[in-house]
Amino acid sequence: MSAAVARPDLGAYRRFVVAFSGGKDSLAALLHLLNLGVPAHAIELHHHDVDGGGPSLMDWPCTLGYVRAIAAHFGTALYVSWREGGFARELARTAEPTAPVMFETPTGIGTAGGNGPLGTRGLFPQTSPDLRVRWCSPALKIDVLAAAIRNQPRFLEGRSLVVTGERAEESSTRARYAPFERHRTSTLTRSVDHWRPVHDWSEQEVWAAVERSGVRPHPAYVLGWGRLSCRTCIFGSPDQWATVRLLFPVAFQRVQAREALSGKTIHRAFDVAALADRGRPFAAALDHPDALAQAEDEIWRLPIVMAPWRLPAGAFGDTAGPP
Ligand code: SF4
Repeated sequence: MSAAVARPDLGAYRRFVVAFSGGKDSLAALLHLLNLGVPAHAIELHHHDVDGGGPSLMDWPCTLGYVRAIAAHFGTALYVSWREGGFARELARTAEPTAPVMFETPTGIGTAGGNGPLGTRGLFPQTSPDLRVRWCSPALKIDVLAAAIRNQPRFLEGRSLVVTGERAEESSTRARYAPFERHRTSTLTRSVDHWRPVHDWSEQEVWAAVERSGVRPHPAYVLGWGRLSCRTCIFGSPDQWATVRLLFPVAFQRVQAREALSGKTIHRAFDVAALADRGRPFAAALDHPDALAQAEDEIWRLPIVMAPWRLPAGAFGDTAGPP
């Protein structure tokens, strides 16, 4: 690793809450914890289902299955959480409160919220680093994890360390994140810290760690994406939209239909068709039928360990995604 990131005293924590998207950076963060000797039984992966368990509008259908396979491989717990109805319900919200958060717990499914002020969305989140207008990240991920922590009494017992995989190299916004700080859910009675263990890692270091683990990269990388965001992320580049239109025409049309319904485009200046017209599908998109079939399949079917391991086509490529 390059310059040392302040490492918290890992022995001080009872549990390690890894916000786990299934992307290479959260995977590298998990691998780093394991390499530092954190026992798998103390680690819990938390995955946020952006589509809220409903039909896929935004996310890759295979991502939840992929994340489950990784948790099973390493022997960690996995807790899935979501906002009821996901992205689609929040987008369609009309004079209603934001939907409640649902979260898996060791003993069942908890719920929180759903009784906030009435409000109306109707518009896609704006492609901005400002989370007040880019509503998908807080509503469907950040606030969901916070609700899961705040509403489980077990987090009052012993200290918790939230671990996330943001890297400074990804954007100027992420470069300003602190490698270590108190987590937003921490209070006088609930001790929660937040560590970004790969904050100063290069992409090269991340892929090297994934290669050492042998874990198969998410199909998105194999098909040419450089980052794992939602499949139809609002920050999609022209090449990403061209690839979605080529490989996943139904998913592409679903977003087009939402644009038509709202009368507003996903991007400030262009609709998704215009974006796709400006791009070219990734060169690798049609070369990997196994990854393509898996990408559309909610059931994870490929071996989670890849032998021999191969660097995916998307590595060091298109880096469009949330800043
Ligand atoms: S990946 Fe993109 S679309 Fe999905 S929640 Fe994040 S910013 Fe929004």
